[in-house]
Amino acid sequence: MKDLEWELLEEGLKEEDIVKIRGVSKGDVHSHCGLGMRFFTFNEWAGGNVKKPSMRINGLPGLDNYIFNNLVQYITNKEGWAFLIEETLKEAIKDGVKVLETSIDCHTLLDFTESSEFFGTILSIGNHYLKDIDFRPELGMAKDITNENLDKLLIPCIDSGVFKSIDLYGDETKEDFERYKDYYKYAKSKGLKLKVHAGEFHDHHNVQKAIEILEVDEIQHGIGAVSSEYVMDLIKERKIRLNICPSSNFVLGAVKDMTKHPAKKLFDKGIPLTINTDDLLVFNSGVSEEYLYVYKQGLFSVDELNEIRKNSLL
Ligand SMILES: [Zn+2]
Repeated sequence: MKDLEWELLEEGLKEEDIVKIRGVSKGDVHSHCGLGMRFFTFNEWAGGNVKKPSMRINGLPGLDNYIFNNLVQYITNKEGWAFLIEETLKEAIKDGVKVLETSIDCHTLLDFTESSEFFGTILSIGNHYLKDIDFRPELGMAKDITNENLDKLLIPCIDSGVFKSIDLYGDETKEDFERYKDYYKYAKSKGLKLKVHAGEFHDHHNVQKAIEILEVDEIQHGIGAVSSEYVMDLIKERKIRLNICPSSNFVLGAVKDMTKHPAKKLFDKGIPLTINTDDLLVFNSGVSEEYLYVYKQGLFSVDELNEIRKNSLL
């Protein structure tokens, strides 16, 4: 039977009414905190001269190029990080997001004098918005992290108890997942959920390696799995959730034709999916806008989107 939220989602999608879709509870479980606000908010905070992101970006190198040439120079201290984290929560709340898993890179710790100050900042922001949102801080790391920093930054962050999940991102051609295996095992032993970016631009081999070596619970993107029945079965058997970001895939060129986005085939295969923002600042599309986008592209029906929505609230 349809509940009130399902009905509101149906109305919102059919009437293309974004306010109604925002009124339905949902999760954003693939988001990166430094880029979790709208561009205009960041631009205003940074003084008004930040270059706007392009609507078409050339893959991860293009994205890194934009971030490192236009944004990072403004994020230089703990006050900057506190602002980014808080604005990410505020933006998610405005979008009707009730569960937010957003990654905070472990290098952020270096901008704080004391590690306790870093962890305290995250906790106090979460506590401030506790009534509005279930904020689950995610520990992020890029593949260019040094061996020294894996021990110096990652371990205290895992030990802090602040982070609920861990995620690895960066150049997909670097498939040295073995390097992170022991850290992932340690994170698991401390109760963190395991995620990894895989299969965004590359095929099922990348996804399969990430699953078999890191034994992850969820994959950020994972759309490359669609090229192998075996890997899709593996994902399904292990009940691995794929956290997909349609606008990100299109803007970065991972998917050329949205009407043929692999999410549909993965969903039809019975794999649990969610739909998320990735980098709101760059792709300018909240979760509600993403739902409407894929609905209008004919990828998913109202009922399917409601199932995807419920997956995101687990
Ligand atoms: Zn991502």
